[in-house]
Amino acid sequence: MIMKISEKIKKLVERYIVAPPFKTKYLLTITLIGAVHVYLVILFSYYRVIPLILFNIASVACYGYCIHTIKYGYKKDLAKTFFLTYLEIILHSFTATICIGWSFGFPQYIIGLIPFGYYICMSMIDSNKKYYIGTMMGVVAAFSFIACRILYLFVGPLYQMSVSPGAEAAIYIFNSICNFFLLFLVTMIFIIDMQAVTVKLHDQNILLDNMASTDPLTGLYNRRSMQPFLDHAVKSDDPFCLVMCDIDSFKKVNDTYGHDFGDIVIKDITEIIHREVGTHGYVCRWGGEEFLFLYNGKLEDTLPVAESIRQKIEKHVFTDQKTSINCTITMGIATYRPDTPVEKTIKHADDRLYYGKQNGKNRVISAYDTA
Ligand code: GH3
Ligand code: MG
Ligand code: MG
Repeated sequence: MIMKISEKIKKLVERYIVAPPFKTKYLLTITLIGAVHVYLVILFSYYRVIPLILFNIASVACYGYCIHTIKYGYKKDLAKTFFLTYLEIILHSFTATICIGWSFGFPQYIIGLIPFGYYICMSMIDSNKKYYIGTMMGVVAAFSFIACRILYLFVGPLYQMSVSPGAEAAIYIFNSICNFFLLFLVTMIFIIDMQAVTVKLHDQNILLDNMASTDPLTGLYNRRSMQPFLDHAVKSDDPFCLVMCDIDSFKKVNDTYGHDFGDIVIKDITEIIHREVGTHGYVCRWGGEEFLFLYNGKLEDTLPVAESIRQKIEKHVFTDQKTSINCTITMGIATYRPDTPVEKTIKHADDRLYYGKQNGKNRVISAYDTA
C-alpha cells in the first residue's frame, strides 16, 4: 500500500516537477503566491482592513503581470518579475505588521524568500554576481524579518481585527502551511534541478570520454585508448596475440578515386575486422589506414581469424554510386610472451606486417613465416 502511494507520488513529482522546464516551475510558484493573495483579499475584506484589502488587490494585479511576463516575456524579464515578487513580499510583511500586528504570522513569508532568492539567482543570472546577489537578497530578507518584529514592538497595530483566539491561530497556521508548502516546493525544485544537472554532466562526461577515446571516422578505439586493454591483457595470465593490419596500396585508391572513396574503404574494412574479431578481442585504429587488434587466444586461434579477415576483404567489393573496386590487406601477427614487453610484441607484429608488404602484400604473416 505504502509502496503504491510512494510510486504514485513519484509519478506525480516526475510529471509536474521534474519534467517541466524552469519557466513552468517558476510560473507554478508565482501562481501559487498570487493565489495566496486572492485569499488575503477575501480575508481582509471580511475583517474590513482597508489598507490590506487595497494592498492585496495591488498584489494580485502584480502577480497577474508577473504571470503574463513569465508566459510571454524574454529571459531578462523573468528577473524583473522575481525582484517584484521579492519586494511585494517584504512590503506586504511590513504593511501587515503595521496594520494588524505580528500574531497572524504574515511576515513568515519573508523566510521563504531566502531559498527562493538563491534558486532564482542561480537559474536566471549568468554572471558570477549571482552568488553575491543571492546572498545579499537573503541578508536583506533576514533583516526585514527581524525589522518587522522590532517595528511591532514600537508601533502598535492600527486595526484591531475582531477575531477569536481560535481564528487567529487558524490564520497563523494557514499562513505557516502556505509558507512551508512554498518552501518545500522551492527546495524540491532546487534538488531536482541539481539532480538533472548532475545527470546531464554525467552524460556529457561519457560523451567527451567517447569522443576522446574513439576515432570519429570508424568509431573504433584510438591508439591511446587501446592501452588499458593491452595493460589488462598483460596482467591476466590468458594468452593473447596482437595483429597489425595495413591496407595495401591505399595511396593509389585515394589518388585514383578520391579521399571520400578512401574513407568508404576504411569504414568497410573496419566493419569486416570488427565483425570477425567480435567479442574475442579489441580493435583500434592505430594510424591512418592501419589497424591493431588484440585477440584473446593463442596463435592457432588468431591465425584463422586473421586469414578469414584477409579473405573477406579480398572478396569484398568497395563501392559507391560511381566506383566499384577490390582491395586487399596485409597483416602481421605476434604472440605476447610474458618475458617480453607488450611494446616489443607490437613491434614484432609491425615487423611481420612489413615483411608481408615486402613479400607480395595481401598476406597474413605469423611468427612461423619469419622464424
Ligand atoms: P602499402 O601497401 O605499402 O601500405 O602502400 P600504401 O599506399 O597503403 O601506403 P601507406 O600505408 O603509407 O598509405 C597511407 C595512406 O593512407 C596515405 C594517406 O593519404 C591515407 N590515409 C590515411 N588516413 C586516411 C583517412 O582517414 N582517409 C583516407 N581516405 N585516406 C587516409
Ligand atoms: Mg597501406
Ligand atoms: Mg600505412
